[in-house]
Amino acid sequence: MNTMRAPGLRWLLAMWGLCCMARCLAEPARPLEPIKLRHADAVIETASPALYDGRDVFVPLDVARALRCTVTVLDREESAIIGVPDGHRKEVALTRLRRVPMIPLASLAPILSLRFSVQDGECELVPIAPSSVAAKPVKPAKTASSVKPWVQTDPPGAQPGVQQPPPKSSSGTSSDRQSVQRTGAGPSGVQSPETVEGAGQLGTPPTQQSVATPVDPPPATVTAPIKAGVDRGPIRIREVVCEAVDPAQARVVIVADGPLRPTVRMAGAASELTVDLPGTILDSPVTEWTFANPLVASARAATTGAPGVTRIVFALRRLVTFRDRVLPPDSMEVVLRLPKLVGRRFDEMRIVLDPGHGGPAATGCSAMVNGRRIYEKDLNLQIARLAYERLRKAGLDVSLTRTTDVAVSLSDRPMQANNKLADVFVSIHVDDAPGNSRASGPTAYYHGSDVEGRALGLALVEGVARAGDLPSRGSRSDLSRFTTGMAVLRRAEMPAVLIEIAYISNPSDRAKLISPEFQAAVAGAIADGIRRYVEGRLPADAGTPSAETVGAQEPEGL
Ligand SMILES: [Zn+2]
Repeated sequence: MNTMRAPGLRWLLAMWGLCCMARCLAEPARPLEPIKLRHADAVIETASPALYDGRDVFVPLDVARALRCTVTVLDREESAIIGVPDGHRKEVALTRLRRVPMIPLASLAPILSLRFSVQDGECELVPIAPSSVAAKPVKPAKTASSVKPWVQTDPPGAQPGVQQPPPKSSSGTSSDRQSVQRTGAGPSGVQSPETVEGAGQLGTPPTQQSVATPVDPPPATVTAPIKAGVDRGPIRIREVVCEAVDPAQARVVIVADGPLRPTVRMAGAASELTVDLPGTILDSPVTEWTFANPLVASARAATTGAPGVTRIVFALRRLVTFRDRVLPPDSMEVVLRLPKLVGRRFDEMRIVLDPGHGGPAATGCSAMVNGRRIYEKDLNLQIARLAYERLRKAGLDVSLTRTTDVAVSLSDRPMQANNKLADVFVSIHVDDAPGNSRASGPTAYYHGSDVEGRALGLALVEGVARAGDLPSRGSRSDLSRFTTGMAVLRRAEMPAVLIEIAYISNPSDRAKLISPEFQAAVAGAIADGIRRYVEGRLPADAGTPSAETVGAQEPEGL
């Protein structure tokens, strides 16, 4: 459609991209060297030194203690819970360097509302003043040129407004590094530390905002001014097109007369794809489009968007994954695909279910009920066992990472799934927001920007919410909760989701969690959600299975 436009610009963009890549490849991290830490004009003394590799600073745990935090190391030193003086707690991934467990400073600093910079062999920690968080740029580190921001706010030819998270990786260092940028960058498309903490299983009360957000947070919320729109008035949306690429893939294209900065998200229990286009107006006599497409039924221009924002809502026929992309100079596309397992028989799936926590030390969250303490680890196991039975009855090859109250390390859990060549991995947990008894409902987490995990998460979270009569909190990236994501998801090699069933800190959720009827309903919903993902069926779709799934049983048969 616009592929031949502005070939010179495209060439420049390609060269710019290559230059960036070459620069990145040419600057490997340096060998680790000790670095002095300074905070409030004093040197922080540590038993073993903080280390710097030219990009990241890693600090031993006593640095957190020196900054008046409590540190609880979990699961064979893979992560630690940092208790901040104001009472908040947050989990951070640990890295073992020179046999010492270390915290990437990029993970620790934001928790303490600090930013840091490296200069002349010293790392200085400076408080972020609340009012200056958005306005003050990060003091550039010595090697700032090698630090690539996670969200590209305005480089020439970038995809404006599109979140560009790091690829799924087995090490957390890339996202650690990016958070150097996050700390002070303010509205950069990444949730602010306040919002991030809102999801808090680990003791941070969710903010009102996060409680009220039932769907996946928009992947990009870049709020930089739209220069073209300011200079020349609003950009005009000319056309909305949907193409069937093949039976499993569709492409929707929005054509305008200037650059677009879209925000794309799944809404309406995954049955709608919503595209918000700030700084635009619809310049088309048509406001509704219908498509004879196996994945997309229609599109309509909604009137519910914010002022100056054109909202196009696509009604979907199937559960799909999606990737959006800006097509400079004046278009954007969203590629929709059926989940990758569609086409395979559901009863041939290999599933690993992971009841979270376990053993005497890792109890998860807990609450007193009628004078007895209820532990998350037991609820997780109970629900996982019931889901196991459901799936087993439907003929699937299912296993549990633990069948009794034993400790299993965070890395062993996804490794069990990897070793079994599982098709789907689901970790089952219960959420907690101490101090906030209103937070309610299930949340699904997928790793990073994994689109398969996002779709699986939607199928699970919507089903669990419906089965338990709870508000869905959507399918969210684990980066919204932990700087480096969640270890159980990061290491899984298949579509993987961690689902928090409900809040033990909410009296109504808690009463449900301990009820055998609720546990059975949720277990059925987990089994059914896996099935919907495998078959590419919408969470709300009660209809008959599609052509690919003929021969499979009805979900009720699970
Ligand atoms: Zn848990």
